[in-house]
Amino acid sequence: MAFLAERLLNIKPSPTVAVVTLAKELELAGRDVINLGPGEPDFDTPAHILDACNKAMEQGKTRYGTPAGVLELRQAICEKLKRDNGLIYTPDQVSVGSGGKQIIFNAMAATLTTGDEVIIPAPYWVSYPDLTSLFEGVPVYVDCPAEENFKLTPQQLRSAITKKTKWLILNSPSNPTGVAYTVEELRDLAEVLLEPSNQHVWIMTDDIYEFIVYDGFKVKSIAQIEPKLYDRTLTLNGFSKAYCMTGWRLGYAAGPSELIKAMNMIQSQAATSTTTFVQWAGIEALNGDHAFITENNQAYQTRRDLVVDRLNKIEGLDCLTPVGAFYVYPSCAGLIGKKTPAGKTIENDEDFVTFLLETESVVCVHGAAFGLSPHFRISYATDIDTLEEGCNRIRRACNSLSQ
Ligand code: PMP
Ligand code: GLU
Repeated sequence: MAFLAERLLNIKPSPTVAVVTLAKELELAGRDVINLGPGEPDFDTPAHILDACNKAMEQGKTRYGTPAGVLELRQAICEKLKRDNGLIYTPDQVSVGSGGKQIIFNAMAATLTTGDEVIIPAPYWVSYPDLTSLFEGVPVYVDCPAEENFKLTPQQLRSAITKKTKWLILNSPSNPTGVAYTVEELRDLAEVLLEPSNQHVWIMTDDIYEFIVYDGFKVKSIAQIEPKLYDRTLTLNGFSKAYCMTGWRLGYAAGPSELIKAMNMIQSQAATSTTTFVQWAGIEALNGDHAFITENNQAYQTRRDLVVDRLNKIEGLDCLTPVGAFYVYPSCAGLIGKKTPAGKTIENDEDFVTFLLETESVVCVHGAAFGLSPHFRISYATDIDTLEEGCNRIRRACNSLSQ
């Protein structure tokens, strides 16, 4: 349509959001769907957070807020960043938005000029490239295959950096793989970023899965490991995952005050402020009881172990055991080129997930959406019975393929 902006041609609807919509449509149409698509906790928001929201509404915290966010929330965020990440920020260095996604949107809007490059290790969370392209930045993908544990190496980082590089995006634990960088790995990446020719590169560290970890893994954020990067780092986080608050739409970033000021200016024009009473619930999420996080992680870990074990018993699939988030990202390389009972050849991972959907009503997301094929993403943030049934159906589908 002629009146739409040309730059929209550079982006597409979020494939993970599309999968959630598709699964809901199929369920409404009466299909017996096993939904392993959505990246959201199946647990309800804890009651003490709901109570804080209700109380805030009763107390009349129902008016416009300021673009940066409620001061008490920004103070609580600063305390959290100090407590959990050893990072010292002041409230004027924090910007609150309607979800981590909107915060990335604001950060890209505030910083990208046409042609600026953003280094995105692949596989990546689906929105990084499109939010880069929307503001006429150029995503620079670096393939991080399973053999490298889906992680960026210092050599790869060094060769990806050019004079036009604006951002490196790090996401640990990662969506879609669940892998996380160790302290040593972060130190090695930091060393590259500190080289004299790389001083212009900023780091966006997406720590949204930091609390969803297993086997005692301790997540660190890069500025925590290398304080010399503090001035060039935007530390991004949100409430959707650990606090089971996806629908509340609450996220934040902390960074240099000049950048935060610019993001707040955009927020003042885009949304005025984030929903006020939701921010008060956010304070309770940060300061209140966290026992539920440990309980949820125990449930996720049992589910992870089940799914990894089941998938690795299926011929043609190969699945790493992740240390965090609630995703696995198995390879389906062993199935490419095989034929379905209907005679169609599985050419790629999109064909494979379409086959799973059509024959077994199992919803997953194809690896191409995350920039690394042939893989597919399973979210195990669902109950054990659903996961067992899902794995049975995937096994049946794979076994029905022929050479
Ligand atoms: N980063 C990553 C890696 C994610 O998986 C998500 C979840 N969609 C987000 C950011 C944004 O989450 P939200 O907007 O719900 O805070
Ligand atoms: N992060 C989730 C996912 O990857 C939610 C959907 C989205 O915002 O992309 O499925």
